[in-house]
Amino acid sequence: MALPGGHHPSVGPSESRAVTVLDTQISCFHSTWNPTFGCTKVSPGCDRCYAEAIANRFHGGFELRLKPQRLTELHRFRPVEENGRRVPRIVFVNSMSDLWHDAVSDAYLDRVFDAIEAQHETIFQCITKRHRRFLRYARNRWREKGVPRNVWLGVSAENDAYRVRIDALRALKDAVGEFTALANTEPVLGPVARHDYAEIDWVIAGGESGARARPMQREWLDQAVAAARRAGAAFWFKSWGRWEHNPVWPLARGKTKAEKKRDLHERGLELLPEEHGGATLDGALIQERPRAYRRFLAGQDGGN
Ligand code: SF4
Repeated sequence: MALPGGHHPSVGPSESRAVTVLDTQISCFHSTWNPTFGCTKVSPGCDRCYAEAIANRFHGGFELRLKPQRLTELHRFRPVEENGRRVPRIVFVNSMSDLWHDAVSDAYLDRVFDAIEAQHETIFQCITKRHRRFLRYARNRWREKGVPRNVWLGVSAENDAYRVRIDALRALKDAVGEFTALANTEPVLGPVARHDYAEIDWVIAGGESGARARPMQREWLDQAVAAARRAGAAFWFKSWGRWEHNPVWPLARGKTKAEKKRDLHERGLELLPEEHGGATLDGALIQERPRAYRRFLAGQDGGN
């Protein structure tokens, strides 16, 4: 499940609250891992899939391929350093594919999750647009034993038309019990006022990046934030996607893009000048992680 905005190493905060950070690049995950590669498009959020562009340019095509050799390398995902302490690494599974693609058999999914579940102290964030297949598989796999705490499961819904994908997460909770549920609202391509984040633990939102990116309206982002607040879900705003789509861009002074970014940064109008289009909303960053992450940290410190 390709996400807009690419990947940045994390050196930022880990607490579940709104924070203001200067001069850092942080990410809602630390690493990516691709046990499959390639995909096919299912909805408008896929139209400008960066994974497809990368695959066509550097990997000879975007058709789905299994990568079983990847299943033995998970021990390499060590904890990371954040704010002077070692914290569990969050691994985004399949930045170049969708794990629940039709061409991935249940038997291969079993091998992927057997490998993931054996790596207890690493968090694996698995996000899909194929909610029906996901729900079928996940019900069968975790009905008896529940979803392990290091497996975070999510869907991506780019506008209200695809909110049914979020319902699938609640249906799974009904079937298998509590787990960390993620609603990825990326790229935000239209109104999301009807997104229901009840029982969702983490909402991630952001605009589309790339030269032909479709702009995210401020109103749609506000809808996502409001829905997350109503539901008590943690929220992470990743970025505006492109500088031209950041509402403070018209205020930037300077001739070149670099000068404009520096100006916004120096005047405190944008706190992350190197992110994709900045990630500041009304003078602050919103970078919260779900309560499950704090429980991981507490476990490391000897707490519950
Ligand atoms: S599901 Fe994700 S990886 Fe697949 S085409 Fe859509 S955006 Fe790309």
